[in-house]
Amino acid sequence: MTPTVGVLALQGDVREHVRMLERCAVRAVPVRRERELGVVDGIVIPGGESSTIDKLLRAFELFEPLQKAIRDGLPAFGSCAGMILLADRVLDGIEGQQTLGGLDVTVRRNAFGRQVDSFEAELAVEGVEGAPFHAVFIRAPWVESVGPQAQVLGTVSAGPAAGRIVAVRQGRVIATSFHPEITDDDRVHRVFVEIVRENS
Ligand code: GLN
Repeated sequence: MTPTVGVLALQGDVREHVRMLERCAVRAVPVRRERELGVVDGIVIPGGESSTIDKLLRAFELFEPLQKAIRDGLPAFGSCAGMILLADRVLDGIEGQQTLGGLDVTVRRNAFGRQVDSFEAELAVEGVEGAPFHAVFIRAPWVESVGPQAQVLGTVSAGPAAGRIVAVRQGRVIATSFHPEITDDDRVHRVFVEIVRENS
């Protein structure tokens, strides 16, 4: 059966993720309501502004249901702001900013600083076969530290941010600091869809 993957559609680059998921032969649906969450086999949390998505999650009464679904094993993939929302701990968040959690990591918001606010880099991502992945970073977080339950999938390979952790996984939850959805490369989405298929 074709799995259904939700894209949290409160703010951010929702359409780009929908397009990528459709390329990976799953049914992609926007999620704004708790009942819409109930029918998905996986959830993508897009890039955007994590503090805004956090506020909207609470306004739409989705924060707790989504947090519970992820804790109960719903596969989840977050890019950039989505990574922040899936981290158990966040540094440099706005006052009162909360995260859903799911990844035993500490992320630093807007970590790369003003000089390298946005940049692109080629990097190896574990589980992604073939050529290095062309990663696009836009006011991105990095993973400051990884707890024992999470696994590093990728780091920046060169330049001022060399060695910084930018892709992580814990069980059915994966996250990238960069935005695979705005490239033409669907390999990271395929890794996630594989997790969804194994689980559904
Ligand atoms: N800086 C944003 C945040 O804190 C993330 C940026 C992005 O998703 N491109 O959520």
